[in-house]
Amino acid sequence: MKAINPFTGKVCGIYPKHTEKEVIQIIDKVDLAFKSWKRVAFADRAKYMFRLGELLLEKKDWLSDLISTEMGKVKKEAGGEVEKCAWVCRYYAENAEAFLKNETIKTEASLSFVSFQPVGTILAIMPWNFPFWQVFRFLAPNLMAGNTGLLKHASNVPGCALAIEQLVGEAGFPEDVFRAVLISGSETKSVIENAKIKGVTLTGSTPAGKAVAAAAGAVLKKTVLELGGSDPYVILEDADIAEAAGLCASGRLLNAGQSCIGAKRFIVMDAVYDEFKAEFLKHMQAAVFGDPMDDKTTIGPMARTDLRDELHEQVTKSVEKGAAILCGGFVPQAEAAFYPATVLENVKPGMPAYHEELFGPVASLFRVYNLEEAVSIANDTVFGLGAAVFTRDHEKGLKLAETGVESGCVFINDFVKSDPRLPFGGVKESGYGRELSLLGIREFVNAKTVVLK
Ligand code: NAP
Repeated sequence: MKAINPFTGKVCGIYPKHTEKEVIQIIDKVDLAFKSWKRVAFADRAKYMFRLGELLLEKKDWLSDLISTEMGKVKKEAGGEVEKCAWVCRYYAENAEAFLKNETIKTEASLSFVSFQPVGTILAIMPWNFPFWQVFRFLAPNLMAGNTGLLKHASNVPGCALAIEQLVGEAGFPEDVFRAVLISGSETKSVIENAKIKGVTLTGSTPAGKAVAAAAGAVLKKTVLELGGSDPYVILEDADIAEAAGLCASGRLLNAGQSCIGAKRFIVMDAVYDEFKAEFLKHMQAAVFGDPMDDKTTIGPMARTDLRDELHEQVTKSVEKGAAILCGGFVPQAEAAFYPATVLENVKPGMPAYHEELFGPVASLFRVYNLEEAVSIANDTVFGLGAAVFTRDHEKGLKLAETGVESGCVFINDFVKSDPRLPFGGVKESGYGRELSLLGIREFVNAKTVVLK
């Protein structure tokens, strides 16, 4: 497997792929490790998990270099990602036992309760965009729950996959409770079918989610799917426009726009549309693309040139159908997979920018004349991951959040971000199931009812 630095275009690592036989041997070992790991006390699991969190912080510089080199993320953002992984390790080390303690339910029996038991080895199929965070938000709750983990990471970040496996070992976890396999997406079906795999979680695109859900469904295995998004941000007349524009631009440009919960569609009331557009454009035009290792860079290269080219094609096709480019919208002359901060308006049904996920630094502006129209455009998508509403009227914002927008989460007056304490996941074609918080750790456990007459 070749890792290619998207800034230099050069190979930065070559790793031998695992053969089918090796993958089966690794699954056998992880399954064997489960037999004893499930009996380890929470306090002992927590010791290893706390140590893993410390190790991440101790090795932050090396790990963020690795992330930036393999997928182009600006190094300071990569450092933030590593710190967040340490947080999720601490969070579940502190809370897992309470989240999974028996729940007594009053019935006519002398005792009845629910006990949360680990189920075995869970396969995690992960994307490259947050190559540490996506893995850790699976790893921390599942190892704390007593499950073991098998990671199939995206093919362009094999170094990250192996570094995570190594860190788990260094933290003192028993051998084989967490292993990585270097295989491609097309080789994953037989792993899903392996009887020793008890569940599958995938974070990635909607087509990959559908393929994995079909394969897992055929062998009746539970899946959690964290898929694509095209998050709508609704800006009402009474919003603080300067603040909203800054937050919206930050939400759009994070990770060079390659975030499932990136702010993608900006639906703005007519009364404040021109003001918002001017402020938003200022921020977008101020973003500089460049070397991800340079502190002055706001947007690093995209993770791969083919992904950048696909994004440019979505922009070009939208423009051919009548969208207007307000800034960006071109492929820079460079070795790197750069794409500039781009803003589109006049985006209409029938254009890729209206219906598809634009996984890069491209924003679409929509002018609307009332709340009904705003909600209708916000929901006119197959996706339902995150959303935001900007308003000074908290009552109105809360009502819109709870009952208006179809999504897994809505933030009011901020851009959407994941947090270990809050459930994370989508509806519609953005997937199902939840990660993080109490809900996340309960996805892959057997909620067993026990009754004593
Ligand atoms: P991707 O192409 O779907 O790949 C994600 C993972 O799935 C990779 O490990 C990939 O392996 C594997 N894969 C792809 N097709 C597969 C198949 N048919 N069967 C089994 N495995 C398969 O997505 P990506 O380009 O890495 O990531 C970007 C997408 O992820 C975006 O749509 C983004 O919105 C979404 N995402 C969602 C969340 C969320 O929490 N909802 C978070 C982050 C990203 P290979 O690399 O070997 O092909």
